[in-house]
Amino acid sequence: MNAAVTANLREKFSSQVQENISLAPYTTAQIGGPADILVTVRTSDELVHAAQACWEFDLHLTLIGIGSNILISDRGVRGVVILNKAKALEFQMDAEPSVWAESGVVFANLAHRSAAQGLSGLEWAATIPGTVGGAVYGNAGAFGSDTASNLLQAEILTETGRFWWPVEKMEYSYRSSCLKKHLQKAIILSAKFGLKNGDIELIKTTIEQLTMRRKASQPPGASMGSMFKNPPGDFAGRLIEASGLKGIRIGNVEISTIHGNFFVNHGNSRAVDIKELILLAQHTVKEKFNVDLELEVEMIGDWE
Ligand SMILES: Cc1cc2nc3c(=O)[nH]c(=O)nc-3n(C[C@H](O)[C@H](O)[C@H](O)COP(=O)(O)OP(=O)(O)OC[C@H]3O[C@@H](n4cnc5c(N)ncnc54)[C@H](O)[C@@H]3O)c2cc1C
Repeated sequence: MNAAVTANLREKFSSQVQENISLAPYTTAQIGGPADILVTVRTSDELVHAAQACWEFDLHLTLIGIGSNILISDRGVRGVVILNKAKALEFQMDAEPSVWAESGVVFANLAHRSAAQGLSGLEWAATIPGTVGGAVYGNAGAFGSDTASNLLQAEILTETGRFWWPVEKMEYSYRSSCLKKHLQKAIILSAKFGLKNGDIELIKTTIEQLTMRRKASQPPGASMGSMFKNPPGDFAGRLIEASGLKGIRIGNVEISTIHGNFFVNHGNSRAVDIKELILLAQHTVKEKFNVDLELEVEMIGDWE
């Protein structure tokens, strides 16, 4: 590890910098090896500083929110991992209301805060266990809506500066964006979402109903949510179930008996066990249905 960048980060972030630290507790699957360096940032400006330091010293940078859509390798992640806890937010209560949120705000919290203001539009997001940054990056969605439908603008940091991009520039498609597809060195600092004035009780009831539907259809426990994207016209979970793979285990990881697209860590699992289950599901579904299952979850870190 470059000593100059470590010193630079320590000078700015002191105790927010940790070395050789396990990333498993920072993921919803509770899986993953160590980061060489983990820096926790608490504001957008800190996020900018940490990212620019890495870019300046040409160090590999990995940004994580709450780690709900990533599978980190057992060997961990080389370079610097930034844990994003930038959580400021502000409502604009105009005729056309909106909310600005830093990218470390938990999306579900933003949905609940909007509901408390009588603002409608993000009810679906109350069921997403990720940050605003993760949602804007991957076009998170649920119940027929998605981030692309609510986002007005995203504040993006690149090596050349800090810009506000309108939603059109994000090149959104199903669970994807230009950042996910081809912009390696771009970071979402904050985002503005359009909302509508609504009835507080109605909004809260909708959130409760969606949350209950979620609880009824998805397994509890440590997971990354849906492992694969749904192929056109079908469901990854249905294909995995029809392939007879529900309940299969490798090590302590199980393809859930409740939902075939959820891989649940029953404790002390290894990332390679999940990887083997991924390959098994892809191979079996291809053989039985001639369908290629594409990962929704991102595999991160040192997999060699
Ligand atoms: C139980 C469960 C249910 C889920 N249900 C859904 C669902 O219904 N719909 C859905 O779409 N997803 C769902 N997910 C997946 C996940 O919650 C979303 O993809 C979420 O948006 C990821 O956010 P995160 O902060 O956890 O991102 P992370 O997993 O930490 O990171 C994911 C990717 O986003 C990048 N990233 C994160 N923040 C930024 C940023 N500020 N700037 C640039 N890149 C960034 C990371 O580098 C990484 O490549 C579910 C997950 C779980 C565990």
